Amino acid sequence: MIKFPRFRNRKKKPSQVISDIEQHNIERQQFREVLESINATRIPDRLKILDEFLTVELHITLPDLLQFIEAGGNKNYDLDFLGETMDMFCQCGFAQKNEFETQEATYEHHHLGDHHDHFICTSCGLIREFRNNRLEGLQMEIAAEFNFHPLQHKMEIYGLCEDCLAKREVNPPLQLAAVGEKVRIVEIVGSREMQARMAAMGLSPGILLEVINNNPGGPFIVAAHDTRLALDLAMAQSILVTHACRHPDKK
Ligand SMILES: [Zn+2]
Ligand SMILES: [Zn+2]
Ligand SMILES: [Zn+2]
Repeated sequence: MIKFPRFRNRKKKPSQVISDIEQHNIERQQFREVLESINATRIPDRLKILDEFLTVELHITLPDLLQFIEAGGNKNYDLDFLGETMDMFCQCGFAQKNEFETQEATYEHHHLGDHHDHFICTSCGLIREFRNNRLEGLQMEIAAEFNFHPLQHKMEIYGLCEDCLAKREVNPPLQLAAVGEKVRIVEIVGSREMQARMAAMGLSPGILLEVINNNPGGPFIVAAHDTRLALDLAMAQSILVTHACRHPDKK
């Protein structure tokens, strides 16, 4: 069994009167006509990919889609051909490509007339779809205030999903905090020398920090007051923190 942790079944709208199979057949026919009109090569292969893709109904990366198709016994494709075909689907409005930060690009089925936005967990990669009419309306109002005429938008909210939040230690080391996260120093552990180094940088319990960068390749940067501080790994491991973003209380 292949596991696809990123995926989630899309909720079906009660108003959806035609079945998914009928809808897929309509899209297949439309795509065939487009392919024929542009004299595309390997039309049956591309239609087969569309069939497989439409059965997935998830956010899927190219390698995962290839694996999914191959698991069904079809080994005719490589990543280049698959990528080219998926890009054709996007250009024709059958698929949408999402390039979320810190993640490989994913494709999802584009349902005509259906708009949704995304929550992205920066810890486990979970993608969650949402739609909020108040938020949609507010965006239109704000655009109107700026005399801007919006045509489309993408709302991507990065953070931690429920599971990842629950798995967190109570006072994790700063090193584990996510980019954009605001944390408060609870304790500084380590040698006396380390403590003195931190104190000289103005770091002590109670201080608020915002994580600017924690990519393993680059420097660990936090903002404290109005300054940006570069920390080495030992320092980031010695600072125990508590999450300090302000969120409205859950009802
Ligand atoms: Zn939206
Ligand atoms: Zn998560
Ligand atoms: Zn989506």
